[in-house]
Amino acid sequence: MTAVIINGKEIASKKKAEIAQEVQKLRDLGITPGLAVILVGDNHASRTYVKNKEKTCRELGMHSILIELPETVSQEELLMKIEELNGDPAIHGILVQLPLPKHIDETKVIESISPYKDVDGFHPINIGRMMTGQDAFLPCTPYGIMVLLEESGISIEGKHVVVVGRSNIVGKPVGQLFLNQHATVTYCHSRTKDLTFHTSQADIIIAAVGIANFIKAEHVKEGAVVIDVGINRNETGKLCGDVAYDEVSEKAGFITPVPGGVGPMTITMLMFNTLKSAKNTLHS
Ligand code: NDP
Repeated sequence: MTAVIINGKEIASKKKAEIAQEVQKLRDLGITPGLAVILVGDNHASRTYVKNKEKTCRELGMHSILIELPETVSQEELLMKIEELNGDPAIHGILVQLPLPKHIDETKVIESISPYKDVDGFHPINIGRMMTGQDAFLPCTPYGIMVLLEESGISIEGKHVVVVGRSNIVGKPVGQLFLNQHATVTYCHSRTKDLTFHTSQADIIIAAVGIANFIKAEHVKEGAVVIDVGINRNETGKLCGDVAYDEVSEKAGFITPVPGGVGPMTITMLMFNTLKSAKNTLHS
């Protein structure tokens, strides 16, 4: 079997066009969705991500501001900046680009962002709301994965989903979103005994490990849906995912490529959440 490729770039473009239309409608009512991104220090990868977020905001007609703080900024100064943005009516979404320098407590920073502007969906209030099936800002990468499946016509109810990885930003929340949609979910991680035993029973595998080409054909059931979250460099420096694409795509039913799979959806769902936050102000 040769897998159907799930084209994240195409699906993201479609979603972004829908978001741009909604943004225009809000602008007609006098509200321009606004995103503030805080970048601390000069991490090259973080800078690239932040620039992309700004560019996408502009393309979709949103207002965006970038606040750059030096690596040496104190936690107090950062928290004060967030407080200021929490009270700024032109800003509907606040994102602090992670990772932060070691002297800053990431948890404290995340918890200082107003849950109403937490467009990354990392605040414990949004996580709790997501877990209890209430309306919430959903974390962007997991949410993007759900949209990819929906747009590809892949049903979830009753399916066995195996999530490899249990980070707070990808593994744990994506499993929860599948559970909310009535899948049976198994989590695997670095202490899992006999990974292949679990993954080879999966109808849907989510690979969020951070190790290049980690999921091989032997891990995958014939015809399974394989979603590759990983962003890694292989030994030659080429961008690759957590899935050994060539061999797995011969066995899977559906597969996401890297690049061009999950990646473009993350930023799209960030835009979606910022729009959602701006829309919420209409009813408050
Ligand atoms: P983390 O490093 O936080 O988590 C990795 C997870 O993989 C951990 O739960 C870890 O287990 C598990 N793991 C590590 N080794 C093994 C193993 N041998 N067998 C089974 N499980 C293992 O990574 P993230 O969740 O933040 O990211 C995962 C990947 O996704 C990375 O490549 C990252 O770059 C990418 N990413 C991509 C995004 C996108 O937009 N496409 C967004 C975010 C991340 P344990 O908990 O036991 O340590």
